[in-house]
Amino acid sequence: MATIQELRCSICLRSYAPESVQYACPHCGLVGTLDVLYDYDALKTQLDRDSLRINREPSMWRYRDLLPISPETVVPPLQVGYTPLLDSRRLAENLGVRRAWVKDDGQNPTASLKDRASAMVVSRAIEKGISVVSAASTGNAAAALSGVGASVETAKIDIIIFVPATAPEAKIAQLRVYGAKVLLVEGTYDQAFDLCFEMSQQQGWYCRNTGINPFTIEGKKTVAYEIAEQMEWHVPEALIVSVGDGNILAGVHKGFWDLYQLGWIKRIPRLIGVQAEGSSALVKAWEQNLNAVDMQPQPADTIADSISAGVPRDRSKALRAVRKTSGGFLAVSDADIIASIPKLARLTGVFAEPAAAAVYAGAKRAVELNWIHPDDEIVLLVTGSGLKDVKRAQESVTGAIRVQPDLASVRQALNL
Ligand SMILES: *Cc1c(COP(=O)(O)O)cnc(C)c1O
Ligand SMILES: [Zn+2]
Repeated sequence: MATIQELRCSICLRSYAPESVQYACPHCGLVGTLDVLYDYDALKTQLDRDSLRINREPSMWRYRDLLPISPETVVPPLQVGYTPLLDSRRLAENLGVRRAWVKDDGQNPTASLKDRASAMVVSRAIEKGISVVSAASTGNAAAALSGVGASVETAKIDIIIFVPATAPEAKIAQLRVYGAKVLLVEGTYDQAFDLCFEMSQQQGWYCRNTGINPFTIEGKKTVAYEIAEQMEWHVPEALIVSVGDGNILAGVHKGFWDLYQLGWIKRIPRLIGVQAEGSSALVKAWEQNLNAVDMQPQPADTIADSISAGVPRDRSKALRAVRKTSGGFLAVSDADIIASIPKLARLTGVFAEPAAAAVYAGAKRAVELNWIHPDDEIVLLVTGSGLKDVKRAQESVTGAIRVQPDLASVRQALNL
């Protein structure tokens, strides 16, 4: 396992001893999200990337040596991570780049990348003997926590979820199927977030809320490890990631950063964050060169529910990820997001939910802006499955053809 050396605030850089702080920086408040840091010099001498070649664990736990979990802890059995990285020549041609890959994280057990964070947080709960884990979520983080929680056999873990009452029905059904206690909050995600955190503090529940729990990123970073390993440690020039709270983007950055500290990769890809026009607080902050502390809450309104966030909770690390890697933030319209669902599906066979399909529109835009060049190799991170939100998928395509159950009718319909 990787022994935590310190927790460091992403705003004031104050350092805290590993178990001394549970959530954000006490000095900076919730904006001061913490980095989980290790003794990289020690890890460098102990670990060898080539040993992964004979590692047969087909999940994120193949990187257990780089994760903050003790060897004795029995992690949840659902197979999270180790998702396919698809090399798509047609996507590359379509975007006008040398090569393009899709990292298909919709193939996780509850169908989104959030499983990585939930598996990590639930493992921490198991290790600490905590029996209640809570989360506020726009849907996917809650499903991930509920599913991963339901899989635990070594202890009984109760899951309590706060979701905005407006979350897609299918997502809410998924939580209930897994047996989580679900509270539909008549309010925004941001309100659900605060409510969950305050209640957790009062009740002593372990709160998985994005950003303020420093360990979500330690799970999400494994997607970057996988991309690097799957590309045999030659990382792409750029990675396109959709952004709501900015925690996935920050997690991807942390993953590559860890590998860079270990000397396993030679550089960190440019990270391009894609937001919806109706929820683009980070785009504006980046364009106006604002710091996380100075960002004001913005209204959030987009059909891509998984990236709807008025106050991106991991804004500090998300801005850092883009600035440090010479990447950028851009916004795409809801119409472009909807259109991206069939476009991506028809080019690659990967069916993405709106928030995830947004990376296709974002990659197109990044090429137009010349942030991505014709000889670049790029990866589109697809964060969630299209089956999560079939209603939006239906809006993205025209209807099928109705026929009578006879051959003549079929011929006529197909113009044969
Ligand atoms: C959560 C989520 C995102 C955005 O992640 P953030 O950490 O909030 O930026 C993007 N796509 C999908 C499918 C998600 O579930
Ligand atoms: Zn701080």
